[in-house]
Amino acid sequence: MKILVIEDEPKAAAYLRDGLSEHGFVVDLAHNGDDGLHLALTEAYDLLILDVLLPGCDGWAILSCLRTASRLTPVLFLTARDTVQDRVKGLELGADDYLVKPFAFSELLARVRSVLRRGSARQPEIVEVADLQLDLVRQQASRGGQRLDLTAKEFVLLSLFARRAGEVLSRATIAEQVWDMHFDPGTNVIDVHVRRLRSKVDDPFDRKLIHTMRGMGYVLE
Ligand code: CA
Repeated sequence: MKILVIEDEPKAAAYLRDGLSEHGFVVDLAHNGDDGLHLALTEAYDLLILDVLLPGCDGWAILSCLRTASRLTPVLFLTARDTVQDRVKGLELGADDYLVKPFAFSELLARVRSVLRRGSARQPEIVEVADLQLDLVRQQASRGGQRLDLTAKEFVLLSLFARRAGEVLSRATIAEQVWDMHFDPGTNVIDVHVRRLRSKVDDPFDRKLIHTMRGMGYVLE
């Protein structure tokens, strides 16, 4: 089980990492909201432990970006605040649980286990376009029932195309959504990745799904 901890306070972050590692979890740390969001969007985690007040993107913003991107990774909020309003806001945004600082590690561990148990019982979210099928929870893609062997980045790129099927996506949009960066028109990094993705998603099949729109970008349909 892999957990991403987004916590700006170094001591608290190290305490969580060490404690969770001791209990057999693989833990990544992010010390600010922007790095945390980037990791959460590009890597596969079983759970996010998210501090609310963070430099850069705050906990609310991270959760809302994830849910907008159809990333259903369970989220456990950690916060120094404890007001009913905050709790309601977190739950409305799709947080799975809420823990108020300071907390005992044993309580955290119990919440982590309970969120993970509920998370695994959840219905997978599936996106389908023609014979292409994406399981956004398991991060698996297939065409005509045949599993596609994609890297994590390729999966993110393909899921962006599939969720916005029929919409022409500019290179700038793709750079922002998939790489979290501003598009540099001098590079062909997007085109290289799309080409690689096509070699897996389209080349082995008669019917092509990813199309180049000259001067505009790419569309999946
Ligand atoms: Ca904080």
